[in-house]
Amino acid sequence: MSEEKQRKMALRRDAGFRKPKEPAPNVYGPEYAMSFACFTCKTAHKRHFDVPPCDYPKSMECPVCKDKMANVGRYFKAPKKSDESQWKKVRFLVDHGFLFQHVYELKEDGGHYRVDYPKTLSEARDFVIKYKEQAWQVPL
Ligand SMILES: [Zn+2]
Repeated sequence: MSEEKQRKMALRRDAGFRKPKEPAPNVYGPEYAMSFACFTCKTAHKRHFDVPPCDYPKSMECPVCKDKMANVGRYFKAPKKSDESQWKKVRFLVDHGFLFQHVYELKEDGGHYRVDYPKTLSEARDFVIKYKEQAWQVPL
């Protein structure tokens, strides 16, 4: 074996030793906290789990009222408790499988772009029909 080859193998071996054996803890840090919305309390709770975001539970028990809360993702902004119509809209969307996951509109050229979530309940009624193929099954 040539010296050059031996040197390269040693380098590769050293590089291998430097690799951590276990994945670093908190690979998915607190920035991956998801909001869970409770429709009974009309509030959202942030939760962080040490699993990839796609493995987060779709629902969990509300710590206050024990009702089921829906995982509405990282970007959910809870309406004010007093804002009945916004909470109605959120509930309607979640009931139809829209948990604030990204929803896309296909373009004629084959591309796609992200669509904004509806601002009102009446917009939401059209939204859930138009994008029903992208709805999720939610065990609420
Ligand atoms: Zn609750």
